[in-house]
Amino acid sequence: MLGLMQDWPLLCHRIIEHAATIHGTQEVVTRSVEGPIHRTNYKQIHDRALKVSQALTRDGIRFGDRIATIAWNTWRHLECWYGIMGMGAICHTVNPRLFPDQIAWIINHAQDRIVLTDLTFVPMLEKIADKMASVERYVVLTDEAHMPETSLKNAVAYEDWIGSCDGDFAWKSFDENTAAAMCYTSGTTGDPKGVLYSHRSNVLHALMANSKDALGTSASDTMLPVVPLFHANSWGIAFSAPSMGTKLVMPGPKLDGASVFELLDTEQVSHTAGVPTVWLMLLNYMSSNNLKLPHLKMVVCGGSAMPRSMIKAFVEMGVQVRHAWGMTEMSPLGTLATLKPPFAKTTGEERLDVLQLQGYPPFGVQMKITDDSGNKLPWDGKTFGRLKVSGPAVSKAYYRVDTNILDEEGYFDTGDVATIDAHGYMRITDRSKDVIKSGGEWISSIDLENLAVAHPAVAEAAVIGVHHPKWDERPLLIVQLKQGQKATREDILKFMEGKIAKWWMPDDVAFVDGIPHTATGKILKTALREQFRNYSFPNAAA
Ligand code: AMP
Repeated sequence: MLGLMQDWPLLCHRIIEHAATIHGTQEVVTRSVEGPIHRTNYKQIHDRALKVSQALTRDGIRFGDRIATIAWNTWRHLECWYGIMGMGAICHTVNPRLFPDQIAWIINHAQDRIVLTDLTFVPMLEKIADKMASVERYVVLTDEAHMPETSLKNAVAYEDWIGSCDGDFAWKSFDENTAAAMCYTSGTTGDPKGVLYSHRSNVLHALMANSKDALGTSASDTMLPVVPLFHANSWGIAFSAPSMGTKLVMPGPKLDGASVFELLDTEQVSHTAGVPTVWLMLLNYMSSNNLKLPHLKMVVCGGSAMPRSMIKAFVEMGVQVRHAWGMTEMSPLGTLATLKPPFAKTTGEERLDVLQLQGYPPFGVQMKITDDSGNKLPWDGKTFGRLKVSGPAVSKAYYRVDTNILDEEGYFDTGDVATIDAHGYMRITDRSKDVIKSGGEWISSIDLENLAVAHPAVAEAAVIGVHHPKWDERPLLIVQLKQGQKATREDILKFMEGKIAKWWMPDDVAFVDGIPHTATGKILKTALREQFRNYSFPNAAA
């Protein structure tokens, strides 16, 4: 027997319709690419998103066509998201920090028909445009006054493009499993892979993100997503914030400490979300200028492990820290480190111990850890295993790739190695390809990195496994010192001594001027492994 409830497909545009109807005057504030602060609201965003759908339809775009956006977090970008998805086309967010040739590869693979982009990226696109045959038109997210001379095909200023539409357009209802958006994973190895979100997965993910122990913002909160709309589905904030009527503050192209601080301060932001690099810049700026953020209630941090020293700095400011783990394939939220009852009253180092974990999943994500043969491993907080996940907002396949990516229980292998404790808290110890295998035992490079960055002279640290004749692999610690600071190999190793098992101690420390990063701000270990290809440990002859 079936239930007698209405057939009400979970469609992304229903979110902006709700925001416009119930929270229509709620503000969306942007530091525009052109410079000035711009203010709009959910009603206007909804109305202009309809014009985007109308303009796309007029340009011959049909249901299921892919439309690329290469753009910062702005109100126009948000309008494009809803306009593209609302008419049943697929919003393909492209990460502008990728190498231009990779961008061309991705656009070709997705067969994008229109590219919507910011002024910032016009020169880069002009250089690769002849490699992207599927693109019929470029829309520059600006107005006539700022529109540059450009060789881009059929280029038009966004305000002119939608300005010529009357907005007399209606979004239809369709199957909630229809593809809504697409995002290629950063791919430090091999070709990038296309993750294809559905309307249903995005809506369910937004509901999940809205729970109090996740992002948990309300209509009386203000959220500043530093995380870009082009990175991992904007952590779902482009859906979760409007669905709650949360005020949005969009940082545009300026993500440095001073610019982010200014917006957090002037717009009285209560919640913000981004990767550790962004928070490092903010905290440095605040401490060198002796600044405070009395309105800030919560910092969500993910994408890479959040260092303990950073968690401590926010906790001491009276700000709640929510360390999150996830990935593009998970829409992306997987776990968040919220303090459950046994830990809610902990203080000091004990509290930091929990906040530093990657956390537990909200309803809608299931996880398990297994050995290499797929056998389940215990949740004892000590045993490392391959972390696998399932849920309605987790990928089951990649776009135009014919390989099965699920195990026999329907779980997706995240490529991360983790422990899970009896309370369900997960801790990432490594990427499976980065874990160091010493004498048959695993050493966590993330634990070593976290410890090394707690040294006051260390700006950033990376640990890689280097071949060792006796142990197969041993850890090499690569360190970038803070400007003007000094520390020797011995200082750093002494600082680490006693805080980890003896056999985990790095065999050597190498100092570098800079640590390479991927387009999404993660340490690029493949480049470090290449850089240290000919390195051999001083004790290797032993
Ligand atoms: P992406 O799809 O670019 O968001 O990358 C996902 C990967 O980033 C995950 O599989 C993890 O390896 C890493 N990651 C994300 N969040 C964290 C975190 N809080 N701690 C450690 N690694 C993380």
